[in-house]
Parts: sequence; structure tokens; C-alpha cells
Amino acid sequence: MSSAISIREVGKVFPLKETTFTALGNVDLEVAESEFVAIVGPSGCGKSTLLNIVAGLEHPTTGEAKVGGKPVQGPGPDRGVIFQQFALFPWLTVRKNVEFGLRTAGVPKQERRKKAEHFIELVGLSQFADALPKTLSGGMKQRCAIARAYAVDPQILLMDEPFGALDSLTRVRLQEQLLQTWSRDKRTVMFVTHDVDEAVFLANRVVVMAANPGRIVEIVDVALPYPRTEDVRLGPEFAALRNRVWSAVHHQEGTPS
Ligand code: ADP
Ligand code: MG
Repeated sequence: MSSAISIREVGKVFPLKETTFTALGNVDLEVAESEFVAIVGPSGCGKSTLLNIVAGLEHPTTGEAKVGGKPVQGPGPDRGVIFQQFALFPWLTVRKNVEFGLRTAGVPKQERRKKAEHFIELVGLSQFADALPKTLSGGMKQRCAIARAYAVDPQILLMDEPFGALDSLTRVRLQEQLLQTWSRDKRTVMFVTHDVDEAVFLANRVVVMAANPGRIVEIVDVALPYPRTEDVRLGPEFAALRNRVWSAVHHQEGTPS
């Protein structure tokens, strides 16, 4: 089976005033269809840059990223991107925010409505469908952003620390909800986080990156069965995996702790 995401020898060099900065050295990664891959690593190791390259928001300096076998040339409706900062339109209600992507995709009004309803309900915001973002809590705003990304039904979800700004309770709820949705729809997910627990709890595989230059140092298979519920986090397997990922992240040469 062909990979959903194929990253081959990808490098990214940013020009600085007098010099250049190598954000990504030489990254190879294949993500299978329906796989949930988490990417962890210290701040500045190129996690966002890598995700943005797959999203088509950045272009690699060397190498190539392919999605569904085709070279990435820009953003597309096959990939839904969710950032840490709730990228909602402040002047649109929850419903209109969720409908936005569907409108761009040319989905007719009736269907738009129906789909938006469905995803708003899925993230538990039905009561707030007509509210403006400024009246919502951080967790609610992020759930709205998630509903909007889900609504256009992308085959691939690219999530960059989507729960990073949320309190731990909301975060755990959204993790479980994400897993439920993923188990049902089996989208391919690339999920960036700096939270080792979150990575192990969610993913089939955890990719550990290091900085200077940004590169993959280890890939840890997470053979914990789904559905993963809260008690998974308490088990010895979880602890062992967490420790393994943790030491791969923290025993990097020159990484400030
Ligand atoms: P992470 O998401 O792992 O924290 P990033 O991918 O955001 O890391 O950034 C990797 C490195 O590349 C960082 O050192 C960052 O400062 C640098 N970088 C990112 N974007 C740019 C840019 N547009 N110009 C120059 N340097 C950049
Ligand atoms: Mg980042």
C-alpha cells in the first residue's frame, strides 16, 4: 500500500540576514494511510516546519513531500490543518466558522448547514452554534476549529500542538474525542506536540526529533490497543513507552533541559 504521506530527504534552510539557518537537515518519514503519527521534540527542532511542508504552507529547500503519491505544491482540501492558536474568524459565529471551509469547497447551502450541525454536535458546541468566538472559552474555540477542520472531511489531519494552550482537563477530553473520531473515520493524522504523554496516548508511532539541524532521532512504536481510555495511562506499558520517548527527547546532545 502506498503511503498517505511520504517525506523524502526533506531539508529546509531559512535565509537569515548574513547567514542561513538549517531548520531541517535531512528528514525521511513515511506515514501509512489511517496511521496516527505523533511528532515530539524540543522547541525549535523543526516540528512545525515539517508539518507546514506537508500542509503546503512551506516549501522544502531540498527533497520532496508527497501526499497521496503526489508532490505537495500548496495547501489543499485533502489536508485539514489545526494550529495551536484558534484560527477562527472573530466576526463569524461558530456555525459560520464551521461552514466556512465548506463554502470555499462549493458545498451547497443546505448540505453545508447539515454538515456543520453534525460536526458542531460532535465537538459538543450545539448550544453555542450562534455564539461569536469572543464569548467562548479557549477549549470551546479550539473545539470549533476542530469542527471546522473535520467538516471539510480531509483525508489527512495535520495538527500542530492543537491542545497546547488548553487546561489539562479540556486537553484530556479533546484527546479522547480525537481518538474516538479517528477510530471511526480512520483519517491519517500527523500530530505535533511537545507533550510526551499526549504523544504516547494518541499515536501508533511517536517520531522523536532533535534540533540543530532538525532531524528524526528515533521512532517508537506504540503497540497499545485502541480504544485507549484513561486507565491506559496508568498501566506499566504506558509508563515504559513514555520513559523511552522521554529519554530520546531529553538525552539529546546540547539540548537545554
Ligand atoms: P518547532 O515547531 O519544533 O518548535 P519550528 O519548525 O517552528 O520548530 O522552527 C525550527 C527552527 O527554524 C527554529 O529555530 C526557528 O527559529 C526556525 N525558523 C522557523 N521559521 C523560520 C523562518 N521563517 N525564518 C527563519 N527561521 C525560522
Ligand atoms: Mg512549533
